[in-house]
Amino acid sequence: MSWPASSDLLAPLAPWFDSVRRDLPWRAGDLDVPHPDPYAVLVSELMLQQTQVATVIPYFTRWMERFPSPETLVEADEDSVHKAWEGLGYYRRARFLKAAAGRIAAEGWPSDLEGLADLPGLGPYTAAAVGSIAFQWPAPALDGNAFRVLARLLVIEGDPKVQAANLRTWLAPALEILGPARMTQALMELGATTCSPTPDCGACPLADRCLACLSNRTAEIPPVAKRAKPKVSSLWLVAMEAEGHVLLHAPAAKGLLAGLWRWPALSADPIPAQPVAPNAQSLTAWPGWTQVYTHRREVVSPLHLRLEARFEAAVGLHWVPWTELPALPLGRRDQRLRDLLAVPGQTPIEAPDPTALIRVCAVPLA
Ligand code: SF4
Repeated sequence: MSWPASSDLLAPLAPWFDSVRRDLPWRAGDLDVPHPDPYAVLVSELMLQQTQVATVIPYFTRWMERFPSPETLVEADEDSVHKAWEGLGYYRRARFLKAAAGRIAAEGWPSDLEGLADLPGLGPYTAAAVGSIAFQWPAPALDGNAFRVLARLLVIEGDPKVQAANLRTWLAPALEILGPARMTQALMELGATTCSPTPDCGACPLADRCLACLSNRTAEIPPVAKRAKPKVSSLWLVAMEAEGHVLLHAPAAKGLLAGLWRWPALSADPIPAQPVAPNAQSLTAWPGWTQVYTHRREVVSPLHLRLEARFEAAVGLHWVPWTELPALPLGRRDQRLRDLLAVPGQTPIEAPDPTALIRVCAVPLA
């Protein structure tokens, strides 16, 4: 590797960032000293994993009002933590944040990068981001945006992540000389706003030294990874209501949906009808949608089934008072059905037999 000194190559980035940086609620005014509130940096970095800045801003603001310190977060119950995260997705991050806050409240902030990386949910990238932005440690934080910028700047062939260790070593002096908090955020900002997948090289402070730009190779560097085709499934999502209650799955303790209440969902494949207590009053539907996840898609058909009386719910399902529904944390898909309940539905043209819906949610009749 014969890359020019990072502090020379990246020097124009520092004044550029000072002139264009966005005023984000977690950003410190003075980038030359440690951040006055490392917890705010930790919250923002966990929220920004997998989520756009514009989406994060209102969540961050509400979160900091509700849980302004690690100590307040530790005292909060799981439902209110998940509720505050509702809509951001990847709910594991909320639980990691609470667990990390517990460690910080009990032991204080770690004194080095290793200690930060050992906090729940951080990993090398987030630890370096928090270390450099909150504590001014010269720890290079390489996310997808930073890899893209550096791959183009240095014309790294193939997947730049293969060069992660070399890039960190190369980048550290630039952080030391030009300022860790400033340079970490400058690289993030350049990748997010200018050196995007389709770069705006005319607006870039590094255009006069960027090898990909100078050799007209920005479209091919870095190579775009091929994604596997997402799997598609279809389901009925059912809000069952009886005697002022709704039927919900209680949150799982582990897994992707841990901490979240869920509506019963049934495969949209035909369900064989079997006799159950026939107490359905009405069945209504709304137009469906496709729920997009990282590796799969769900074609969701929402239904509202009103019953005369509650039945004995199967294991894991609970009849919850309707009045408590707004306070429960739900995932994005399930929030959408909750919101639809305020909108008039229509008689479904096609829907499963209500008794079949009840059957899979009830303790079988003797
Ligand atoms: S010149 Fe273009 S390709 Fe190079 S770093 Fe700037 S925006 Fe990215």
